[in-house]
Amino acid sequence: MPPSVDPFIPYGRQLLTEDDLEGVAAVLRGDFLTTGPFVEQFETDMARRLDVKHGVAVCNGTAALHLSLLAAGVVHGDEVIVPAMTFASTASTVLMCGATPVVVDVSAETGLIDTKAVLAAVTDRTRAVVAVDYTGVPCDYDALHRVLSSRRIPIISDACHSLGAAYHQKKVGNLALMTALSFHPVKHITTGEGGMVMTHDDAAAKQLRLLRNHGINRDHHARRNRRTWEYDITTLGYNYRLTDIQSALGISQLKKLDRFVARRREIAKRYDAFFDRIPGIDPLVIPKACASAYHLYVVRVDPERITGGRNALYARLFELRIGTNVHYKPIHHLTALAPRLRLGSKGCQMAEHLFERILSLPIYPAMTDADLGRVLTAITHALQTSRSSAVRKSETHASS
Ligand SMILES: *Cc1c(COP(=O)(O)O)cnc(C)c1O
Repeated sequence: MPPSVDPFIPYGRQLLTEDDLEGVAAVLRGDFLTTGPFVEQFETDMARRLDVKHGVAVCNGTAALHLSLLAAGVVHGDEVIVPAMTFASTASTVLMCGATPVVVDVSAETGLIDTKAVLAAVTDRTRAVVAVDYTGVPCDYDALHRVLSSRRIPIISDACHSLGAAYHQKKVGNLALMTALSFHPVKHITTGEGGMVMTHDDAAAKQLRLLRNHGINRDHHARRNRRTWEYDITTLGYNYRLTDIQSALGISQLKKLDRFVARRREIAKRYDAFFDRIPGIDPLVIPKACASAYHLYVVRVDPERITGGRNALYARLFELRIGTNVHYKPIHHLTALAPRLRLGSKGCQMAEHLFERILSLPIYPAMTDADLGRVLTAITHALQTSRSSAVRKSETHASS
């Protein structure tokens, strides 16, 4: 008999069931493949689910961020403050607007944007701040609003990690002028590729709808004569539309959001209990005001206590067929971005500190208890093969 090989456990993946497939098939049999009734239905469902007035569906999370910046009025020569610990899109979309990303530090405990660093980076060219709800934890929006609202600087929430999360019981989607969501397969719900901007602001919603469809001004067209082919483009826009096929998938996925987030929280709780007993590996801290949606479960690996540090643990787990990842290499380390951005005056020491230590462990709704058991066993095994860490936290405390 050939030796059985355990399947590779990824750090994240989608969960599709029969109802998702049926929803998509129904669209394929219908009249519209794109810009039909399912797009509007998905937008309405999401807006209702998050208690937000408008949802504007777009083709991915990056487009959601790009259009949010444009709708906030970001133009050539402006500055937009972004955190160092995020996915490249948070900054590349600022560059797409012709503006300069100003990169500021994050907290070493949470990985979230540091309000003091934001304040120190504000200039008279600052047009917006993009707050990233890193790992699924909402930023400290009260503190951010306190320093930014008197200066009339809007906040755009990059909530690509935090669909389903809350801050002081307030749902994500209600914490900033505009909120960008992503429906990539590793995110909370998926449409393959997809995104949405949530906003309470009527003018912003109107601008977002215009920009996602080439800037074609249908209202203007409709006002002149409903029966003419005549149209105009009054603003330079994009084709950032989401299809009806994708929207049908989004509609059925959204029905399962609560269950998906609940399972992620269960897994996170098991990890928390496990790492309580492991010296040298500490999960990121979740502030009391926040209910995390746990897009990621990130631990900090102390290189002084775990031989070989994060990279050795990554390699050992990979050999045991456990997929982990690093979220993220700070954006000022990325070759194409580095020369085009500016670092805030206080530097990004905490982001550098985190970058040396962080590792994202598998967490996704389809992850079974058996999968989780394999991950925990693999971590225990990986640590036993490194010399310095097979001791209990209490013993370490006692001996230090
Ligand atoms: C996924 C993600 C994006 C981009 O979303 P896409 O749908 O992949 O374009 C932007 N910001 C963050 C923080 C993300 O995790």
